[in-house]
Amino acid sequence: MENEIREEIKTKKRIVVKIGSSSLQHRETGDLDYNRMEVLVRELCNLRNQGKDVVLVTSGAIAVGKKAMGLTGTEKKDNHLGIKQACAAVGQARLMMIYQKIFSEYNQVAAQILMTKDTIVNDFNRNNARNTFSELLSLGVIPIVNENDTVATYEIGIGDNDTLSAIVTALIGADLLILLSDIDGLYTDDPRSNPEARFIEEVEELTEEYCRMGKESTGSDVGTGGMNTKINAARIATNSGADMIIANSADIRIIHRIMDGRRLGTLFKEHRQEEFDLVSFVEHLHE
Ligand code: GLU
Repeated sequence: MENEIREEIKTKKRIVVKIGSSSLQHRETGDLDYNRMEVLVRELCNLRNQGKDVVLVTSGAIAVGKKAMGLTGTEKKDNHLGIKQACAAVGQARLMMIYQKIFSEYNQVAAQILMTKDTIVNDFNRNNARNTFSELLSLGVIPIVNENDTVATYEIGIGDNDTLSAIVTALIGADLLILLSDIDGLYTDDPRSNPEARFIEEVEELTEEYCRMGKESTGSDVGTGGMNTKINAARIATNSGADMIIANSADIRIIHRIMDGRRLGTLFKEHRQEEFDLVSFVEHLHE
């Protein structure tokens, strides 16, 4: 049964992959790890070469911008909204420059899409965004998505890229979301503090019990998403008809291993709910 579920992954046609800042940086320095970015891009291009639609949701704008401007991020002022927005303006452009360079080495065209809550809540914006994704994908382009951190404040921000990637998944009708993270997936308890914690390979239906297992923190101090945001993402993705997998980014080649049907990470099985309303879900985020 489980193997059948994993076999099905091979048939997925439209895939969103999310990677967090901590997975893109060297732990020691916080500088970008070009080797890891290169492997990520190669994996995505290879999926595209198999005829699949591919979207990348990437963090890193603020972290890269901080580095570029020599801010350590440890001082209180480095984390003020204005500074973060300025860092994002610098960092997003740098991040894209590097992605564009690596994608072009594989003859792959990539595009940038920056979103806020308004992109979903406003009917014109949502339709425009959906149409643009659709055009790009039909042209064989890989859209690279991030929150528009330069203008996003708490009120209009989505806040974290786990949620953003699930929203994108729902918006474009993707059938698989892969969340690359610094943990293997969902455990019954926090494995760093409880040695008895059991790893969960498949979640058939996202019940309250699984939601309770979602812990506050992944142990990473760079990205914003903990297990809670991942469970939230699973709710959006599975309710809108997509499978979601949380997988460890320690070896980014895990992407093709997952696509080969191997039992890696935690798979949340899709459970399409006709009554799931993306717009109202996004409207009420942070309430
Ligand atoms: N959008 C933020 C950035 O690119 C990161 C948000 C997140 O990691 O969840 O810096």
